[in-house]
Parts: sequence; structure tokens; C-alpha cells
Amino acid sequence: VEITLIETRVTAFSLPVVEVLLPLPLSGAFTYILPEGMIAQVGIRVLVPFGKGKLQAGVVRRVATIQDKLQARELKFVKEVLDEVPVVTPTLLDLYDWIADYYLCKQGEVLKASLPTGLKMQSTRTVYLPEGLDPNNVVSNDKEALILDALAFRESLSEEEAQRILMPTPAGPLLQRMAEKGLIYLVTDTQASYKPKVIRCLAFAPLYRTHEGLQQAFDLVKRAPKQENALMLVAQFLSQHGGKLPLRELHGHDELSHSALKALRDKGILQTEFVTVDRVPQEAERAERREINLTPAQTAAYAEIAEEAHQEKPRPILLHGVTGSGKTHLYIEFIRSLMGEGKQVLYLLPEIGLTRQIIDRVREAFGNQVGVYHSRFSPAERVEIWQKVLKGEHQVVIGVRSAILLPFPNLVGIVIDEEHDTSFKQQEPNPRYNARDVAIWLGYHHQIPVLLGSATPALESFENAQSGKYKLVSLRERAQQAALPTLQMVDMRLEAKEKRSHGQFSEALLTALQEVLDRGEQAILFKNRRGYAPIVVCNTCGHVPKCTRCDISLTYHKHSNRLRCHYCGYSEADTTHCSVCNTQGLRHEGIGTERLEEQLQDLFPTARIARMDQDTTRGKYGFARIIAQLEAGELDFLVGTQMVTKGLDFERVTLAAVLHTDSMIGYPDFRAHEYAYAMLTQFAGRAGRSSLPGNVILQTRQPEHPILQLLTKPYGAFYQQEVVLREAAKYPPYVRLVSLTLLHKDHVQLETEGQRLAAHLKARFGDMLLGPEYPPIARLKDLYRLGMLLKLPRTLSLGKAKAELRTGILDYYKHAPNKTLRIDIDVDPR
Ligand SMILES: [Zn+2]
Ligand SMILES: [Zn+2]
Repeated sequence: VEITLIETRVTAFSLPVVEVLLPLPLSGAFTYILPEGMIAQVGIRVLVPFGKGKLQAGVVRRVATIQDKLQARELKFVKEVLDEVPVVTPTLLDLYDWIADYYLCKQGEVLKASLPTGLKMQSTRTVYLPEGLDPNNVVSNDKEALILDALAFRESLSEEEAQRILMPTPAGPLLQRMAEKGLIYLVTDTQASYKPKVIRCLAFAPLYRTHEGLQQAFDLVKRAPKQENALMLVAQFLSQHGGKLPLRELHGHDELSHSALKALRDKGILQTEFVTVDRVPQEAERAERREINLTPAQTAAYAEIAEEAHQEKPRPILLHGVTGSGKTHLYIEFIRSLMGEGKQVLYLLPEIGLTRQIIDRVREAFGNQVGVYHSRFSPAERVEIWQKVLKGEHQVVIGVRSAILLPFPNLVGIVIDEEHDTSFKQQEPNPRYNARDVAIWLGYHHQIPVLLGSATPALESFENAQSGKYKLVSLRERAQQAALPTLQMVDMRLEAKEKRSHGQFSEALLTALQEVLDRGEQAILFKNRRGYAPIVVCNTCGHVPKCTRCDISLTYHKHSNRLRCHYCGYSEADTTHCSVCNTQGLRHEGIGTERLEEQLQDLFPTARIARMDQDTTRGKYGFARIIAQLEAGELDFLVGTQMVTKGLDFERVTLAAVLHTDSMIGYPDFRAHEYAYAMLTQFAGRAGRSSLPGNVILQTRQPEHPILQLLTKPYGAFYQQEVVLREAAKYPPYVRLVSLTLLHKDHVQLETEGQRLAAHLKARFGDMLLGPEYPPIARLKDLYRLGMLLKLPRTLSLGKAKAELRTGILDYYKHAPNKTLRIDIDVDPR
């Protein structure tokens, strides 16, 4: 016994290691040895070797030690520690784990979605030619010769350039071999893609920063009038700029000659300094903080919210309030009640376009502690916002979906406006998370209140409120004496029969638009297709141009004069010739927002019209410009896609019109009714939000459709009718759904492999598995698609079902002749 004891003492071995999460589609963390002298903690980034000759930055998930020498031999070393303080909080790391587990994806995919590009450092390699090498002697194949040829005229090649030359051969292994043979040098260097923005500034040397110092400085230049002048001006500028004047501000001041400035610097009076500046400019503090006066109905609703929010273990709160009932006021009160030293609240919105209006209101309440986060910011700007959230400098953060993945050190509450909105769900790629459900989890996990708001809650949310899982708070009337808008259904069959309509426009709509113009009010028109014409047809042979990569007809865009695929971005420049019979003359069928805008302008030549869709709102300020024009009364009509249906709040909008209502109610989806009801109700809610009465016109060929009939009734009526259908057909909220999309380049292989996978899953799930079935669009981005749907009873443990699904898929891959089938899994699809 004693001998063994001594032995263990001798071989006692302990090596510090870190487990690192990489922003790559990989499960779990990878272990690396932490070399002596390096200090690591959870949440910092480290640079580690990954793949052949590559370095990759990852985030430390765990710091540990290993005792096993054999195991240690297999491990690689951390190359560099990149941060002194964590850039990812432990809470956020836990959230990654939960998302990966719940949505059946990889932790690396969640990290990739969360971490701003600017923090995802990767190594790049550069190829150099060694001195005195005679390429003719050593080249062993054409590919190597290509690289050496390219280097004959240049000093170096980046690995990317080499890859372009070698296409389709992968460059990595080839370059590695060439380097081993001594044909080339490979130099690896890592660059942080995020660099702080630094500008050069002019400042007084420390000695001359006081009043007396300045006197001395003037004494020094007494005999040089030009320098004295310059010093006077600089002193003035510097006092206006807080002591540091960006050099670029000096341009255009002729009286500040270069030689005078140089002389002042040589005398040691002035110096240049490097100053780090914010890319996202701080907006000026608002002078007036507007007080919110709640109506009696709002006060009562707020009391209910506050009561639940301040429970020890608050339930999620669903605020169901009709459009225009002032939900934003309650959100702001809710945030105010939670705020305090170092505390943070997240406010999620469905649409970037809405941030402008909300930011203004939230700033009125909270001043400059408000930050904004969405995808229109540049990578470097996103890093800066990330860091401000991390340091707690942003106390209220307004953002879209991805803001739920920010590193809040002290989150005390979450608001989700328009919680029913599908934009909270990421469709593609992984992680296919729903920010609303992630928020609910955060709420339970950290015992913080989550306030969901909507005029048309998701069926699942309302069901949760009915069952008492959520707290339900209702607001049934509009604020400010505004009435709900009146709804007018126009039967387009009658319009056509009685020859009243004018193209796409009914007589009723034309009259209403004219009245809006006459009264100096505003109207919004909704059409759920962008572009000019969704279908183009050859006049001679009837050919319809389709995307080369998708089963989708190309949309004609007049402004850019191209045919475009809205799914993959493919486009064609020839918009006049038929590619099949080569005759000239293509006919435009159907109507998109671009054409609608044109027709409207023809009908109302004096009207000021703007269009809001993906094509007109590119860039960071695309939305803001149109919204500012509407607010300033510089527009009469706004035409747009889905984006105009959500949240916009303008006092002078009195008419909301849908041109083709039918195209919104015919989707082959069990949620078609819910979506149509929500979208139409939301859109109708844009009209008549102030004292001006609002009017809604829906043009349809089926006014008797049950969904359109329900629009005039309160949400409760819609809910009652819809849940009955859902229960009968076994759809959420009565079952849970997991959808599988199988993808393959070859449709024959897709069919066989799809059946094979289905057999493996059927053996486990039986009748709970539906499909495989071809979706309405059978091919997208060169991949054929096949769908399967799992309907899991709520009595079944979701964890167990997912484990079954995992093993079923693994089993399939084990037996599959090749592993080329791609399987996309979507838990709780929307
Ligand atoms: Zn043709
Ligand atoms: Zn396409």
C-alpha cells in the first residue's frame, strides 16, 4: 500500500487547460493547454490552432486542469490570450448551451450568431517565394506551377488569392505541401478585424494647459505675430472642443498656416495625441423629458403589470392591448420601475424600421443610457455597442432579434413588443431560435419579469395566459379618445362586373385616397410583393423566366431594369428578349410595390408618394429618411410591403388600404389564419391613431371568407374559433412541432435518402411523423427540398423526443451509403 502511495505522489501531474468554444458549426468545447505565464478566465477570447496551420479565436468556456499525461500529449497549446477581461458573460455562455440544446443545433453556431464579426478573429496566411529558388527544377504539378507563376511578378499572395487561382482545388493542403517541400514560405498572421477608431488630435502640452501656462505660451511667441495669431485661434478652438481638437477640423482655416502650427509644436507648446473615439455617435441629451400621463385604463393595466413584475418569481406578463391603446407608455413605465444603479433592461422590436420612433420616445424618458442594436450597424460599430452593454453603459437596449444574444451583466427585465411577430424567429441558418421564447427562458432562469405585448398575441402565448402560465393584462380601448378605425370590405368581383374599378383600384379606394389628399392627411397602401411585376411572360411562346437556382419565377424590377430572384439574389440583365424563342417582347404580369407606386402616381399626379420595401430602405438610414418625411408631413401616400404593417405611428395617417387581400389568406400553412388576422389587424391599426377618424379598405374577391369576417370582432372571438380548429387538426398549442427539411443537390438521391431517413424515424415515432412531402417550392439555391414534420403530444417529454430524434438521425447516417444528405431541424417552426 505504501509503495502505491509514493508512486502516486511522484507521478502527480496537473496541467492547466482551457475548454474553448469556437464560432464554427461544432458541438461542445475543445481543450487546449494553457502555457505558463498566460492567464485565462471564463469568457475571454483566446487564439488557438484549429485545422491545418490555421489559428482561430474562441471563447473560454471553462478553466480546468488535467491529470492524465497521455491525454495531455494529444493537446495543442493556446497561442495567445486576447482579452484581459471577459467579452462574454457566464450567463450568456449558459444561454448558448440552452439554445443549442433546445433548438438542436451546435453551441458554436450560437456563439457565431451572437459574437459580433469584429470579435471573431481568424488567421490569414500569406505565401512568399524563398530566395534563389529555381522553380523549373522542383515543381511537381500544374497547380504548384500556377502558384509559382503568380509569385513571379509579385512579392506575396494571400491565401484567398491563391484559392482563386487554384479553383476548384482547395488551397490549404496544397500550400501546406509546397511549404513542406520548401517551394514557398507560408506566414501566418492574425488580425483583429475590430480596431478601435483612433483619430489624431491637437492639444496643448501639459505644461500649458493652465491659465498661467497659457500666459507663458503667449510670452514665448511674442516676437512672431503669425504664431501669436495661430496660438490665439488654436486656444479658442481647443476651449470649444474640450481640450482636444481633431486635426481634420483644422482644414479650411487659412489663417492657421502649416508653418505656424509646426513652429508651435517645435516650441513644445502644442502636441498631437491619438484619441479613441466612438463610431456610434452619442446623440445629444434631450432637454425636455416628456412626462407620460396614463389614462385611467392604462393606470389600471399598469398596476396589474407592476404587481406581477415585483413578485419574487414573476410569471411572464402578456399585455394584450388593441392597436393604439398606448402599450408603449406601459413599456416605458415598466422599464422605469425596474431601473436602478447598473441595472439593464432589454426592449425587443420586430422591425428595424420601428427603432427610430421608439428610440425617440425611450430617450425622452431615459436620456442617454439608451443603446440600439441591429444588423444595419457596421461590424466595428456592433463591437462598440457590445462592449458598452458589457460595461453596463447602456442601461436600456433597444434591438431586434439578435439583441437577445448581447452580454448583459445585469439584466433585470425584458420587453417584447409585438410578441406575435415572426421576425423574432430566425429561419435560416442555425440557430433557429425564437427571441421571444429565449426571453421567456431567461425570465424563468433568472427570475426577472418579461413583458410581452401585442394586439394580436400568438395563439400559444394567449393560451399560456388563459391557462395561468402567463399573467394576462388587457387594454380594450384606444388612448386619446381615438376610436378603432372603421373597416370597409370592397368586393372586387362586383367592382369589375359593374365596371367601377380602375385597374387594381376600386372606386371606393380612389375616392378615399382623393379625400385624404383634399384634407391634407396621409394614407398607407400595403402590397405583399416588392419589385415591379412578380411574373414576366414571353408574348410569343409563353415562356416564364425562372431562377436558375430556385423553382421561382423572376420578378421584374423597373428601377434597376433587371429580373431578380427574391430567394437567392440571382438576377438577369436582359429584360426584353425571351431566352427560349429569342423574340423581343416580354409581358409584365401581376403587381409589386414598385408598379403600385407608379400607377398611384399616374392617378394622382400631384401626390407626394414614397415606397417602403427592401429595395428602398437599404443602408443604415434608409428607414429613418422615409419616416422623417412622413412625420414632417412631406408625404401624402406611403406604399410598402410587410414593413408598413407593423407599429408605425403617425398622427395624420387616416387611411390604410390593402390592394390584394386574397393573396394573404391563401397560404398552405396551418398558421395562415393567424398570420392574416394579425397582419390585417396590425395594418388596420395604423389608421386613425389620434383624434382624426381612421378608415381601412380591404379589396377582396371573397369578402365572405371567415378570417375577413372575424376582423371586425375582438381578438377573443378569433382565438375561440381558431383554437377549436387547431385542437381538431392537432396543431400548436395542442402539440409541439419539430420540422425537418432534407436537402440535396440531386433530386433522385433526395427521394431515396429521404425515404431511408423516414423509415428510421417512423420506427421511432410512428404516426407522429408526417411526410416526407415536397414543399411548395421544391428547389432553392440549387438544393432540392423534402419536408417532414414531427407532431409531438404535449404529454411527451420534449427532451426524450429530441434524444430519439438525434439517435434516429445518427442511425440513418450510420447506414447511409454516403453522407451527402443535409438535414435542417427546426424546433417550434414559425
Ligand atoms: Zn418566347
Ligand atoms: Zn433563386
